[in-house]
Amino acid sequence: MAKKGHKYIFVIGGVMSGVGKGVATASIGKVLQSNGYKVNLVKVDPYLNVDAGTMNPTEHGETFVLRSGLETDQDMGNYERFLNRDLPEENYVTSGMVYRAVIERERNLEYDGNCVEAIPHIRDEIVERFEKAASINGSQISVIEIGGTVGDYQNIMFIEAARVMKARNPDDVLFIMVTYLPVPSKVGEMKTKPTQNAIRQLNSYGVQPDFVIGRSEEVLDARRKGKIAEQCNIRPDHVISAPDIDSIYDVPLNFERDNLSGLILKQLKLKKKEKQVAMAQWASFVQKVHNPKKEVHIAIVGKYFDTGDFVLSDAYISVIEAIKFSAYTLGAKPVLTWISSQSFENGKRKVSELKKYDGVIVPGGFGSTGIPGKLKAIKFIRENKIPYFGLCYGMQLAVVEYAQNVLGLKDAATREMHKDGKHLVIDIMEDQKEKLRNKNYGGTMRLGAYPAHLKKGTIARAAYDQEMVEERHRHRYEVNPEYISQFEEAGLVFSGTSPDKTLMEIIELPKKVHPFFLGTQFHPELQARPLAPHPLFTEFVKACLKKK
Ligand code: GLN
Repeated sequence: MAKKGHKYIFVIGGVMSGVGKGVATASIGKVLQSNGYKVNLVKVDPYLNVDAGTMNPTEHGETFVLRSGLETDQDMGNYERFLNRDLPEENYVTSGMVYRAVIERERNLEYDGNCVEAIPHIRDEIVERFEKAASINGSQISVIEIGGTVGDYQNIMFIEAARVMKARNPDDVLFIMVTYLPVPSKVGEMKTKPTQNAIRQLNSYGVQPDFVIGRSEEVLDARRKGKIAEQCNIRPDHVISAPDIDSIYDVPLNFERDNLSGLILKQLKLKKKEKQVAMAQWASFVQKVHNPKKEVHIAIVGKYFDTGDFVLSDAYISVIEAIKFSAYTLGAKPVLTWISSQSFENGKRKVSELKKYDGVIVPGGFGSTGIPGKLKAIKFIRENKIPYFGLCYGMQLAVVEYAQNVLGLKDAATREMHKDGKHLVIDIMEDQKEKLRNKNYGGTMRLGAYPAHLKKGTIARAAYDQEMVEERHRHRYEVNPEYISQFEEAGLVFSGTSPDKTLMEIIELPKKVHPFFLGTQFHPELQARPLAPHPLFTEFVKACLKKK
């Protein structure tokens, strides 16, 4: 039985996907949090993958790693960034997890010989997961985003679980539909019909939305709101206008203009608490987003952004946001250029073009394609003293480049490029070997938060201003310990290491050699927040602004 008292808000998509349901969910969380409530944000992904770690980043976007190490959907990143808080792994649910748990239980004879079925067993497993997420950290409200759109076959069980929770505790459950209202150019008028149909489809599942958030190019006028209200049994003031905006960080402020948190709290019979204290800080960050005083030009050299004729940056969403938080906080608007590293290999581009940027990032990645291009780029950046920030693979490749061109080990490599290379300065971690041999790929990398010790007198130590830090990881390879003393003799500084000093976590070059050349084995971008920019990104952007 659903527990009484905790409030559940389900966010369901109508009409089509990709209209910002994740940001809407994060923003609903934000406005409720700013009323003094402890809010949990939960993401449901209806696919059968157990987690998001095995999916192609070009198609699915970034894999966001939680503190616990669970590999999740990029929406979880927005949730953490908006709430400014770490979320536990119970807040991510996939069909794969649900079905796996039920089937394992069945194999263990835990259903007492009963026939195991979608209803009630799958549905109840889902309800239990929602309740567990609700109870885990003393939260009072859960906002649960059900992935996909109404009418999909894949998410029906999740909607059914939400429905039954409402049936059991009507006062504690509320539904919000995020829809899209097109303005066809030849018609010139905003159309509500697709939204009406989506709501009817949801009605056919036994669910009536309490609120509709209408995404559109333009503001929903009173007429459109009235039409949706009358056709679909929704109060007109519960139809919220969500027009396109420049920055996703505006969305909570826009929602509050329609008094969304007040209306939700009223319906849930909850009091408005400390009125909007936290929102002031948020508003002041948004203010900076809209009033930059200068620009900073940063190139990102990677490989997960070409899909056909389109350039998609979804694979690096946390990196982009992390740059924004530091740049805007320093009063600068980041102008990002995406460069496919392969374009340095096939002669489409020259690495000398990198001179025009204030700084370059090589982000995380996997496999051997695009590596020669990245190495070429890093060599140029290092030699020409362009600020460089390497994230995970970007750090490992900086180590490879240093070995090739400074240590003079011409054939230095990472095992990911050359299995049988002679100088594997980046090698597979000992405990990873067996996993790869057994094709045990899912959820088996070195994942999640680990502590690192920072060396005195380094850029990293000064940036964090702390001796010990904790950062999130996602990798199988590491700096080969056999080469460490050679690197150190040649001037490379290992400024962050695991507490037992066996794993190299941060590399850098001293400031007198290079204005900013730093790489991290972890992913600092995963912990950058609008109200708490990441110190290493901030240091990098400062160096970029100086180069200017
Ligand atoms: N492919 C590298 C590894 O597995 C780097 C991973 C990453 O950049 N996230 O170690």
